[in-house]
Amino acid sequence: MFENLSDKLDRAFKVLKGQGTITEINVAETMKEIRKALLDADVNYKTAKAFTDEVRQKAIGQNVLTSISPGQLLTKIMNDELTDLMGGSTADLNFPATPTIILIAGLNGAGKTTFSGKLANFLKTQKNKKPLLVAGDVYRPAAITQLQVLGEQIGIPVYADLESKDPIGIARAGVAQAKQNGNNVVIIDTAGRLAIDEAMMVEIEQVKAAVNPHEILFVVDAMTGQDAVNTAKVFNDRLDFTGAVLTKLDGDTRGGAALSIKSVVNKPIKFIGTGEKMEALDVFHPDRMASRILGMGDVVSLVERAQQQFDEKEAAELQKKIRKNKFDFNDFYGQIQQIKKMGNMKDLMGMIPGVGKMMKDVEVGDDAFKNIEAIIQSMTKFEKENPDAINQSRRTRIAKGSGTNIAEVNRLLKQFEDMRKVMKQMSNPAAMANMMRRMP
Ligand code: GDP
Repeated sequence: MFENLSDKLDRAFKVLKGQGTITEINVAETMKEIRKALLDADVNYKTAKAFTDEVRQKAIGQNVLTSISPGQLLTKIMNDELTDLMGGSTADLNFPATPTIILIAGLNGAGKTTFSGKLANFLKTQKNKKPLLVAGDVYRPAAITQLQVLGEQIGIPVYADLESKDPIGIARAGVAQAKQNGNNVVIIDTAGRLAIDEAMMVEIEQVKAAVNPHEILFVVDAMTGQDAVNTAKVFNDRLDFTGAVLTKLDGDTRGGAALSIKSVVNKPIKFIGTGEKMEALDVFHPDRMASRILGMGDVVSLVERAQQQFDEKEAAELQKKIRKNKFDFNDFYGQIQQIKKMGNMKDLMGMIPGVGKMMKDVEVGDDAFKNIEAIIQSMTKFEKENPDAINQSRRTRIAKGSGTNIAEVNRLLKQFEDMRKVMKQMSNPAAMANMMRRMP
């Protein structure tokens, strides 16, 4: 996410790095580089210019304290300004009524149906809501089926009427069903078009008038850059939406849409999509995104993701096993599955300060754990439960069975042993305190 932009900003800052003070000249040079970086990221020209003008003024007006370098000072100013540019504070969804009605709008292929499913899943698992999905894309029977399949997968009911060609009637009937069945949120997926189209606009305006939604979320593909911003403008003029959703931020996007939408349409980005899986949805936090763009990581989001996958009962069981030194390969395998559920590995790495930059050219796919999983799967039940009993001949067999080699098996067993030692120490408060005391 935003690797190119981060890289170029980093280079722009280098102009100031060796300098002792901020002067008109070195700031002007840095701003030129920053503006270039923004334009390369497909940020709207006016937005980029206004942004660098603002940063320049702030930088020149500052007294450089002796304790911080001009580079650090500029990073701080950039962080504040980027946060502001993307909306300042986090924009939450509003739930002013029961049921709360959320209308989903956007072009075909933007990711509306996928997002509808993700949002329903998010509201159910993180906000304790009881959503109903409504399949309003009457022109593509496949879209209705797609929503039904997603609904099944995440355990959310879907209202659909394959006979009807009337999106307004479907939206009304969906809301009525939600009231009847006690669903407190209704998410209405609507039909898109390949491009802005008058008939589509009229139709969605009519759906809006019929059900009076409390939230209208405009879904747009972040990969389309400037086009995303132009489409947002047209939809906003017609629908006055309450928030934007940027999808496909996991891809090769240059980031321009995320940086320009707020300043062009003056509506907040509320969510971002970071993958095809139902869990790949994040609430949009401008401050955290700014910090990621500047290569400072996003530890807060990382911890939150971990917490979402965290099951207290399971964790308590695990604690007990660790204390008794009974943590085995079955538990280890389970832990790997949990990490995988947290999302794309590269994305996760990018949230650790400094690591994003380091990992830039490294390919970490979903199969990062493939060999480890294969090795564990090639163990017998006895071996998984008794790692200490895995002798040389067993190692040879496991290497063969997993299609890896003996060195890889040895490495995993050694890592596992080291991990068990550390875990055991950490589960003993006295030993832990001792360890902390010895730290520099
Ligand atoms: P719709 O026509 O607007 O309803 O779009 P869909 O929900 O059918 O999505 C179009 C394609 O984009 C599908 O293949 C989705 O799997 C994919 N997609 C949607 N959101 C994301 C995302 O955040 N990341 C990635 N990589 N793909 C996505």
